[in-house]
Amino acid sequence: MSVSREEQILYNFQNLATKNKLPHALIIECLNQEKALNEAIKTVKISLCHSNENIPCGICTSCVKIDSGSHPDVKIIYPEGSSIKVEEIRYIRQDAYIVSNEGRYKFYIIKFSDYLTLQAQNAFIKILEEPPENVIFILLCESSVSLLGTILSRCEIFRISGDFKKELNNECFKLAKKLMHASIKEDKLEIFKYISCIPGDRMYLKSLIESILENFIIAFKYESLSLNLEKTIEKIDKLTYISKLIKKNVNLNLIISYLSMVL
Ligand SMILES: [Zn+2]
Repeated sequence: MSVSREEQILYNFQNLATKNKLPHALIIECLNQEKALNEAIKTVKISLCHSNENIPCGICTSCVKIDSGSHPDVKIIYPEGSSIKVEEIRYIRQDAYIVSNEGRYKFYIIKFSDYLTLQAQNAFIKILEEPPENVIFILLCESSVSLLGTILSRCEIFRISGDFKKELNNECFKLAKKLMHASIKEDKLEIFKYISCIPGDRMYLKSLIESILENFIIAFKYESLSLNLEKTIEKIDKLTYISKLIKKNVNLNLIISYLSMVL
């Protein structure tokens, strides 16, 4: 069985945990933050597992506590609202110098570390300059571009794609198909129902609009008899226009409302 590049990166990274050689600060860059978090938790479990074989065993007290989010040495920090504020990092700074409760190491996982404010990042650099013993920071981010160079230079970076694009495209394709059928039936209620599920995420919307366009073009080519050709051509034209708008910095809510009008 061949191993993908991503699996290789994760293997290398988790192998460091197996050998107790994790650096004191590392970054996992991945557009899919859920996947990044899962991989980070797996790594922490490997590092703190009590078992001698099949690490992480998933059944020792350490693994069970990590899975239930109650391990005293494993803390996961999320943005509250739109950012991770400096107070949070100050708290970590105090907490990190207190010795671990149960494990060899204390772990701090910062999810969406792209959302650390500048002030929070500067406070974080101070921790990295004098790293507390046996503490490991795992920063998860969608893109490390938002992190200061002084943080990046002190962390080992692992980049994984998380198959995000593939998952996203599959999801968008399903929704696009439903939207197209509702549009052909001119079922405004159904269209509204689906439109209201669209997350306010540019990448998602871009993929969705391209997918709707693709669905209409396919329908136009192969099911043309059951379609109102004139209306379909008009929709294809307008969708092409929207797909151009999304590439520019046009407000997402505007695009979504325009999309619902076109459909
Ligand atoms: Zn275990």
